[in-house]
Amino acid sequence: MRGFQLPRTHVPLRRRPSQLIAVVNQKGGVGKTTTTVNLAACLAAMGKRVLLVDLDSQANATSGLGIDKTPGASIYGPLLGEGGLESRILSTAFENLDLVPSEVDLCGAEMELTRVEGHLFRMKKLIGDLRSKGNYEVVLFDCPPSLALITLNAFVAADWLIVPLQCEYYSLEGIATLTRVRKQLRDAGSNTRLEILGIVMTMFDARTRLSAQVVQDVEQHFGERVFRTRIPRTVRLAEAPSHGKPIIHYDRYSAGSAAYENLAREVAERLEEAARNNAPSFGDNR
Ligand code: ADP
Ligand code: MG
Repeated sequence: MRGFQLPRTHVPLRRRPSQLIAVVNQKGGVGKTTTTVNLAACLAAMGKRVLLVDLDSQANATSGLGIDKTPGASIYGPLLGEGGLESRILSTAFENLDLVPSEVDLCGAEMELTRVEGHLFRMKKLIGDLRSKGNYEVVLFDCPPSLALITLNAFVAADWLIVPLQCEYYSLEGIATLTRVRKQLRDAGSNTRLEILGIVMTMFDARTRLSAQVVQDVEQHFGERVFRTRIPRTVRLAEAPSHGKPIIHYDRYSAGSAAYENLAREVAERLEEAARNNAPSFGDNR
């Protein structure tokens, strides 16, 4: 299936090292996977080469892109030192969008990782080669709902964090924890370049006062770090994964499609702005 293409409104980031973005929130059900899959698809439709790495053993991003779980196909082996990452990359039915799938085995990886030397740096090592080749302009990690070792590996490897927050539930404490982990990794020298690219408000319901209140509170605290685009709560976004399609390929003219297209434009703008300002993550091939 070759879906429609959005007009190319941005100068491609090609030949720069890939930009690595981890989509994180230790709480489950906040829209991490929905955001990762749809953002990846919209960036790909804008003409960017995108790799999605599914780090959650639930494998919702994998099935949401229409790919079956296959034992032995995930990043599990490479994380533990068996082979490289490139052999795990699958093409999807969507142009410019590739996937490293997940599988239930990733559960076991947490435990086994603790026994591997340099266990916080496994992902960084794996992705290093791929990153400097610049085959992908953007790599997105869909993280599990925890701050355990696999998520920390993504924190260490990534340049940026995107934090989805559910409009129906506001936890300043949750973001404070993420910020603290980021600071600890910076202070320890494990990742000195990691920044929050943005906070995305998900499941926004214009009819409820709660949604408006949560957005207002978050914007008061985080100002411009909050993406202007709010993702509406819509049934179509919840349905699309069971058809193995991102929303722009499932229901092209829906509110969910429009929202994720807008978010993708904002993400691309922020990456380009950082490149112009020579953010540390752009000069460094690792
Ligand atoms: P996480 O990855 O953080 O656990 P998911 O993206 O899997 O969260 O979302 C949790 C549930 O909410 C899923 O069933 C998903 O389909 C649904 N969902 C996510 N975003 C929306 C939305 N904007 N509108 C409606 N349902 C949504
Ligand atoms: Mg998820």
